[in-house]
Amino acid sequence: MLISENIHIGGTLIQSYKICSRQVWFEVHKIDQDQENDFIMMGRLIDRNSYQRDKKSIDFEGSKFDILRKEKGTLVVGEIKKSSHSIDAARLQLAHYLYELQKNGIEARGELLFPKEKKREEVLLSEELKTHLDQVYQEIIAISSLEAPPHAKKCKYCRNCAYNELCWS
Ligand code: SF4
Repeated sequence: MLISENIHIGGTLIQSYKICSRQVWFEVHKIDQDQENDFIMMGRLIDRNSYQRDKKSIDFEGSKFDILRKEKGTLVVGEIKKSSHSIDAARLQLAHYLYELQKNGIEARGELLFPKEKKREEVLLSEELKTHLDQVYQEIIAISSLEAPPHAKKCKYCRNCAYNELCWS
């Protein structure tokens, strides 16, 4: 069976798509990340210690929401990030969650949370975002179907990427 026939596109993959297509290929093909990577460790620590009163780490259709709460009758999905460095990728990831919920008949709004920067940003699902996401899903499937990963290209995300050693050593 082709990998594109059974690929599940979750939030992490959407975020990776905005960062690097090689990273997408590695994730789909289950190439292990460096679990001791400082950036991953820091992310876990921030996740564990922030917003302790909210409901955390909710699984939904293969995605994992960091936070879920109700506010004035509206469902709010929160996504915690260690920094706003990759904010475009984080916005698209959260929009994907809202789209998945909508496909299941649930309307929600999103909040990006940057506890270290004491910052938050609202994310609302628009028709434009949905059209963009539909294109992104197709492109992820195309990348995943490649027989070998796309060539490594140096970018601003390489330094903190968990695949850094694999690409550059
Ligand atoms: S190290 Fe750079 S090229 Fe390699 S997967 Fe990460 S972002 Fe992509």
